[in-house]
Amino acid sequence: SQDKVGFIGLGNMGGPMAANLVNSGHSVVGYDINPEAIERLRDVGGHVAPTPADVAAECSRIVTMLPNSQHVKNCYSGDHGIFETVKPGTLLLDSSTIDPSVSKDVAVLASKKGATYMDSPVSGGVNAAKGGTLTFMVGGPEQEFEAAKTILSLMGKNIVYCGGVGNGQSVKICNNMLLAITMIGTAETMNLGMRLGLDPKLLAGIINSSSGRCWASDTYNPVPGVFDHVPSSNDYQGGFGTALMTKDLGLAQDAATKSLTPTPLGSLSHQIYRIMCATELSGKDFSSVFQFLKDNDK
Ligand code: NAD
Repeated sequence: SQDKVGFIGLGNMGGPMAANLVNSGHSVVGYDINPEAIERLRDVGGHVAPTPADVAAECSRIVTMLPNSQHVKNCYSGDHGIFETVKPGTLLLDSSTIDPSVSKDVAVLASKKGATYMDSPVSGGVNAAKGGTLTFMVGGPEQEFEAAKTILSLMGKNIVYCGGVGNGQSVKICNNMLLAITMIGTAETMNLGMRLGLDPKLLAGIINSSSGRCWASDTYNPVPGVFDHVPSSNDYQGGFGTALMTKDLGLAQDAATKSLTPTPLGSLSHQIYRIMCATELSGKDFSSVFQFLKDNDK
């Protein structure tokens, strides 16, 4: 029926997002390859379909929240994928962070089925997903934006139209590239200051009222003990994983290469995070680059 909303990819982000749709009174039909994720949706009152094609047969609005570009391609175009059964007029909202060119390709395939695909990646982490306070960056046909916003505003508080399909992804990967650069810069600066004998709280306090201030220094400081409720003060657990940040930096580098744009610091940041992925920090929050630098100083 018109009221049913499909949700595919019920992980750290998708799970709580789907739960917010259920709580807003919608009948949610979910799918995930992981049985535990499916159980969590059942526990909060959602329904389950056996494949993405079954979700698309039942729902005229579908949100996808998958790890990477390949997962999105499979979910839409693979065997038992959405495009096997999608109905004309269906609105497809992909909130995964993926390659903007893949978003464009999937949008073309959707339009051949008479459906509309919009990219709508998010900023804000797991807590924003739980609290329904995500920011959505939406790309696609402007006349469909209001319909997208109706659904997305049940999971977020800031829904921004960014232009044509793929533009949401472009905004997202630009932001995350800058986030990685400033996080590494904050980590190496704090480490230098501490090795010069400074107290990290004093140094952070002065940076945060001076021109070096940034989100990585004043909200998410990577040095354990500077702030209480951040991953660095909890053994770098939770938060935004090193592996996911590395993926996003790779997307930024792909886009930079294709558009012939020099991004030297984005490139270096990508390499630093790739090396971290070969260490135990792979599964930790991305602010653990401070730990990585400390492990490699003398
Ligand atoms: P996750 O790995 O926790 O969840 C992904 C889910 O997709 C898992 O439950 C997995 O089983 C499922 N899945 C994988 N392949 C599937 C398939 N073919 N069909 C159905 N389900 C499948 O990842 P996440 O943290 O929820 O992130 C999802 C996306 O959101 C990523 O692109 C990520 O970059 C982005 N993102 C994450 C955060 C964050 O803080 N975690 C913040 C912003 C954006």
